[in-house]
Amino acid sequence: MSAYDLSFARWVYKNVDGGDRMALCMQCGTCSGSCPIGKQMDHGPRKIFMMVRAGMKDAVLKSNTLWNCVSCYNCVVRCPRKVPVKYILHSLATAAVRAGLPEATSTDNARFAKAFWWSAAKWGRTDERLVTAKYYFAFGLVAFFKKSMANLPIAIGLVKGKRMHVGMPHKCKNTGELQKILAKAAEIEARKHA
Ligand code: SF4
Ligand code: SF4
Repeated sequence: MSAYDLSFARWVYKNVDGGDRMALCMQCGTCSGSCPIGKQMDHGPRKIFMMVRAGMKDAVLKSNTLWNCVSCYNCVVRCPRKVPVKYILHSLATAAVRAGLPEATSTDNARFAKAFWWSAAKWGRTDERLVTAKYYFAFGLVAFFKKSMANLPIAIGLVKGKRMHVGMPHKCKNTGELQKILAKAAEIEARKHA
């Protein structure tokens, strides 16, 4: 399969919020140079934008750059062309997952994000034990046991140090109301992208 899909840039411009603003990027590198998480990204935002233009769909959607952004907004306030960098990165990940593009949904970051969201949506809190278990399950049952056993000493240490509780998950009050809000938000999103 070709590493280049020349229709990808058009897909991004059309489906990603702010995607059309990517055309304003002049590749100055201010965003990547200002990013505190740059070292934890396989490509910085500047390079991701160049890769989108070049049609490197597979490499872009598998990149951890889309998921590792911590929304500090440095890139947004410093971009001389007012490209909404942070919004584009997040929206690109969301749009790719929503479209079910396999390159995006099979990454470790996407699996972790899914587990994180599952816990937040169900309990109104992110319970580290449930998020971790759900994330490990995404790799299959055998991997779940292997990963759990490998990390058991860490879990025991956290419990002994009173950094992780045992018992029922923490949850917010009125999770029923939370579910209603989320259902409404999902309905609005679905309408927006219909
Ligand atoms: S700071 Fe703006 S113009 Fe410069 S590379 Fe980043 S997105 Fe492009
Ligand atoms: S908002 Fe995200 S991409 Fe932009 S500088 Fe901060 S961490 Fe980096």
